[in-house]
Amino acid sequence: MKKPFSRIAVVGTGILGAQIALLAAHGGYEVKIYDPREGAFDDTYRRIYHDLKAKGATPHVPWDRWDSCRKAVKAMTNLDRAVEDAEMVIEAVPESLALKKKVFRELGEKSPSNCILATNSSSMPVSRFENESGRPERCLNIHFYFPLQGVNMVDIMGGTRTLPEVMEKGADWIRSIGCVPLTVNKEILGFCFNRVWRAIKKEVLYLWGNDFVDFRDIDRAWMIFTGMKEGPFAVMDKVGLDVVYDIEMVYYSDSQDPKDMPPNELMNKIERGELGVKSGIGFYKYPDPEFLQADFLKPGK
Ligand code: NAD
Repeated sequence: MKKPFSRIAVVGTGILGAQIALLAAHGGYEVKIYDPREGAFDDTYRRIYHDLKAKGATPHVPWDRWDSCRKAVKAMTNLDRAVEDAEMVIEAVPESLALKKKVFRELGEKSPSNCILATNSSSMPVSRFENESGRPERCLNIHFYFPLQGVNMVDIMGGTRTLPEVMEKGADWIRSIGCVPLTVNKEILGFCFNRVWRAIKKEVLYLWGNDFVDFRDIDRAWMIFTGMKEGPFAVMDKVGLDVVYDIEMVYYSDSQDPKDMPPNELMNKIERGELGVKSGIGFYKYPDPEFLQADFLKPGK
């Protein structure tokens, strides 16, 4: 597979950034990373490793490559060093418009002028902060799902002035790391599949948050109907309930429709520190969640 460039930097190495870095290293790219939280990459690596092992997953990066890919990723103590010779930077910092603006401004100042700047934002079109970089024609959305678990599709969408060659290089990069690009032709909040997933999320949060249905029954229904190993609430635990909340708030801010407000009960969980897999408790308790137990889908008594 054609490689459009050879050096990338990942900024923010939480749940998504760490996966992107590992995947790019597996794809043969030189990868530098930066995160202000010391040890962020190693922490996240360990968490994802144990979570996927516990689930018996067959990850996109084969198990025998994990350690060498982890070692190939170069953690930098400051942003300047991480991006100084990058040909593409992808940021995966928390989902806050103010923070994305700040990071794009810094990337515009610190990375080479022809470097492509991508955001992994789950909800925000890059046009909302492309100008901060000073090079909107080289900015785009490249939105991953949970690539190491095998969800190897990636939304790709340009901003208001993205050059066709930048879109092409982005799509080639996605293919070269073994993922399928889902090209969005016109900018839209939520991209391609994320918009479909969001419609499901909104509905199930409404059913649970207003006491219509127990979340386990929704997950059971989903698992039986689709044959998948987890339902929407298990997926939200994996994403992180704080991240889910922030994403829902982006849709709410956009529409101002009260129906788009996430339920209060979701915020209550976050305030109690119930953030999902990363905090050991969300809708389910980890590392041994109920939905993985043998009787979860049995008819019962
Ligand atoms: P996370 O909270 O797990 O990780 C964010 C990381 O960014 C942390 O390690 C934090 O220390 C670091 N960070 C904070 N400020 C920073 C800065 N100024 N510079 C560099 N690093 C900084 O979040 P996440 O779930 O990985 O989400 C990151 C982005 O990816 C968000 O935009 C989110 O919408 C998107 N995303 C998340 C998922 C998901 O399933 N969690 C899926 C697709 C996209």
